[in-house]
Amino acid sequence: MSEHHHDHHDHDHHHDNHFTDMEARVKALETVLTEKGLIDPAAIDAIVETYETKIGPRNGARVVAKAWVDPDFAEWLKRDATEAIASLSYTGRQGEHMRAVFNTPDTHNLVVCTLCSCYPWSVLGLPPVWYKAPPYRSRAVIDPRGVLSEFGLALPETTRIRVWDSTAELRYLVIPERPAGTDGFSEEELAELVTRDSMIGTGIALSAEALR
Ligand code: FE
Repeated sequence: MSEHHHDHHDHDHHHDNHFTDMEARVKALETVLTEKGLIDPAAIDAIVETYETKIGPRNGARVVAKAWVDPDFAEWLKRDATEAIASLSYTGRQGEHMRAVFNTPDTHNLVVCTLCSCYPWSVLGLPPVWYKAPPYRSRAVIDPRGVLSEFGLALPETTRIRVWDSTAELRYLVIPERPAGTDGFSEEELAELVTRDSMIGTGIALSAEALR
């Protein structure tokens, strides 16, 4: 009987691996396609990398830069982010509603999905791996200041941190503060300063010097 119990124990552990069902299926598919010579894994990595770091977050960066230079657009974003963002043709799936949360000198906003990995992918592309990881999802709520310091962001004790929990129905876009010394910058130059992490809230916009 104890033997049986042991088997059962192992069985439980077997399911407790680090792949979700979807990840396991994707891995299996990738393996088969690679073995048949139908795909090159390096090409897949390059495409994913592009969506993670270039195409996706650049959309959000343009939204933020426009909000920095155009007060009417910023107002529209505050009032109805879904509509304002759609006006720039960055639209998501049906039913995806956006809310823009603006950082101020007093308040820093941080976005998480505690339940799974809801993410505003129409403006930010694919979520980074850490966004989907249980430690970020739980600790962002319990200890946001500690999480931010691990991202290298030390906020003054007086700055309030607001944590926004995404859902399938409502996704958040952080509008970071416009960096100092960027008065003469064009919208395109400003967009260069807007990092993906600054739109999740785990970072802030780059300083003006980043473009020099
Ligand atoms: Fe989620």
